Amino acid sequence: AVNIGVLALQGDVREHLSALAESDVLARPVRRPEELADIDGLVLPGGESTAISKLAVTFGLLDPIRKRIADGMPVYGSCAGMILLATDVLDGRPDQESFQGIEMTVRRNAFGRQVDSFEAPVVIDDIDGGPFHAVFIRAPWVEEVGGDVRVLGRVAEGAAAGRIVAVRQGNLLATAFHPELTGDLRVHRYFVEMVRQAL
Ligand code: GLN
Repeated sequence: AVNIGVLALQGDVREHLSALAESDVLARPVRRPEELADIDGLVLPGGESTAISKLAVTFGLLDPIRKRIADGMPVYGSCAGMILLATDVLDGRPDQESFQGIEMTVRRNAFGRQVDSFEAPVVIDDIDGGPFHAVFIRAPWVEEVGGDVRVLGRVAEGAAAGRIVAVRQGNLLATAFHPELTGDLRVHRYFVEMVRQAL
């Protein structure tokens, strides 16, 4: 069976574990470096990227996860997880670390200047079935992407229309919104398929 870990330092770990369990894989929390050994993919949950990055350093997970990413392990980050995958973070804390996966610049709390949370339709290239009912909570957006990054989705309407909120670079996937909170399993299923392809 396919084993997918959820980084369980802070954030909405439980919601990702259940979305994965409903997607027919073995899902387990990851808190210690040893627990990375037998997972085929990893989810970085929503939460607070500064807290997660500090705990990752404390628990000795920063470098081991960077190494698994460099070795090609598929990783999906939602919201704070997107920030943790970005090579460049605007409005981050000075001591905020990243797993350095996707060549992109994200702005933390980008929408939050006007409003803390909101919902908007987002169409994701590669995923059929109509727009996502995307939930954004103090979410980042992507300001710039490197040449190898595919933009998969943008906000479709409203004040933030056109903002990049879903990207993929090789085996790395990130969304600024939280599909784990809405019961729509299509992003998790898409990620599970990425993990299967990489086995
Ligand atoms: N604002 C949070 C951060 O900067 C992300 C919020 C979220 O994951 N819902 O890490």
